[in-house]
Amino acid sequence: MMRKEVPLSMPDIGDRERHAVMAVLKSRWLSLGPVVFNFEKKMAEYVGVKYAVAVNSGTSGLHLVVRGLGLSPGDEVITTPFSFVASANCLLFERVRPVFVDIDPLTLNLDCNCLKDKINGKTRGILPVHVFGHPADMVSIVEIALEHGLTVIEDACEAIGSEYHGKKVGSESAAAVFAFYPNKQITTGEGGVILTNREDLAGLCRSMRNQGRDEGSGWYDHGRLGYNYRMDEMSAALGCAQLSRITEILDKRAVIAAKYGHKLKHLDGVTVPYVAPGIKMSWFVYVVRLAPGIDRDEVMRRLSQKGIGCRAYFQPIHLQPFYRQMFGYKPGDFPVTEAVAASTLALPFHNNLSEEDIDYVVDSLGDILGR
Ligand SMILES: *Cc1c(COP(=O)(O)O)cnc(C)c1O
Repeated sequence: MMRKEVPLSMPDIGDRERHAVMAVLKSRWLSLGPVVFNFEKKMAEYVGVKYAVAVNSGTSGLHLVVRGLGLSPGDEVITTPFSFVASANCLLFERVRPVFVDIDPLTLNLDCNCLKDKINGKTRGILPVHVFGHPADMVSIVEIALEHGLTVIEDACEAIGSEYHGKKVGSESAAAVFAFYPNKQITTGEGGVILTNREDLAGLCRSMRNQGRDEGSGWYDHGRLGYNYRMDEMSAALGCAQLSRITEILDKRAVIAAKYGHKLKHLDGVTVPYVAPGIKMSWFVYVVRLAPGIDRDEVMRRLSQKGIGCRAYFQPIHLQPFYRQMFGYKPGDFPVTEAVAASTLALPFHNNLSEEDIDYVVDSLGDILGR
């Protein structure tokens, strides 16, 4: 086999994106302008919620939601340890305690059977993450939340366009957040958006992203503590162009995932991603699992030598050094998460991955595994 370079991910930027960003540059209106407003309007329509508030990252969106919902020091929120670290860090910013529950070994989302055991007098919310684009079990989560008077915050940063029983994720909770880092399904460079049906929460988030200024008040009137979490106009223009192509983009990704699934079926020791019945996946990454006994890190080294981008998605959050230090977590605390995390392998995945590249990745993996 000829050696190739196959990157792990790549944003899909075409003429429409270039023109949209150039138009903003030509207008010289680079921040707090009409394009962010337009992006928010289209995003709210896409998901089917009343309000969208664009921000400069998924992490800042999550932070504003946690703060805007009034979660405060000493409160507890139940979440998953199998995620990108930002989904728990957003709680730490407000000194809210993330209480982890283990995950379902198939969907890799938080296991609703473990939820109730963790609810106590301090519990205020549940923060599910739709990991890799696979929706969490929102029916059970919303039901448990209602029963116990808890708020639900969706970290939907990896799941724009995913559907659960015909409903798009992001519409059934107090608030949801999408992220637009360049490896996500659609990108704004850096960026994120908050989605909610609550007018009060949307208003608070709008104010807090802009230094705590109240809408309609003077430039130096600050009603509350705020941040600079604003999305700029170039990013929003990029986002509008990407969002206008989202159906095409998600379809392309689904086709590539299906090709991988078909070609990997014959490889012993490789398990392809699970998709639950009633789910429409928005494919964020393509993560396979290697059978116990296969040295995942050695497989990754050898894939890299062949020019193939790959990554171990994710390291469990509870085992990150500062979580161990703050909360005393140790290996063995969440056995399913740890076993899954030790076996995952993200393969190259982006809109324009060619059939040839897929074959090169699959054949290389087959060679390395000796099958
Ligand atoms: C990408 C992502 C975020 C937010 O990331 P930013 O880089 O801040 O935009 C949050 N949670 C999860 C699970 C993510 O994958």
